[in-house]
Amino acid sequence: MTRDEYVNQPYKFLAFAVLPHKEGGFTIKKLRPLVTDNPQGNYQWLHNMTVIKDKEVYLRYFEGEGDLSLVEYCKKECMEKCNSDIDASVEEFAEHMDCGCPISLIYHMAVGHAELRERLKYFEANDSEVVEGNQNG
Ligand SMILES: [Zn+2]
Repeated sequence: MTRDEYVNQPYKFLAFAVLPHKEGGFTIKKLRPLVTDNPQGNYQWLHNMTVIKDKEVYLRYFEGEGDLSLVEYCKKECMEKCNSDIDASVEEFAEHMDCGCPISLIYHMAVGHAELRERLKYFEANDSEVVEGNQNG
């Protein structure tokens, strides 16, 4: 299999790195999984602090209290920090996150984090092998 054939395979192979050799050929290496539902230590927490349930983003085990709805968190914080009373459903909430306070930034970054984590979780669940190859297949 050539490198181009390999990298053009379906998405399930994207959790691999293609490492070219100086003398030609390449190694395809499985990347260390980052996604877990049972994070241990600071880095695993950092990479797994959001979770999506029923299309809604939650902050995992927030302040030791269990998973907290991101929308509920932002509603409460915006009320306290910028006196903005946001009355919107989960589906429409992003359109109302225009108060300009730091919570708005947190909201958008957390949604992005959660979506990337879910995508990566899928890739990492479809792994299995390390493949050695060369430029001729
Ligand atoms: Zn705000």
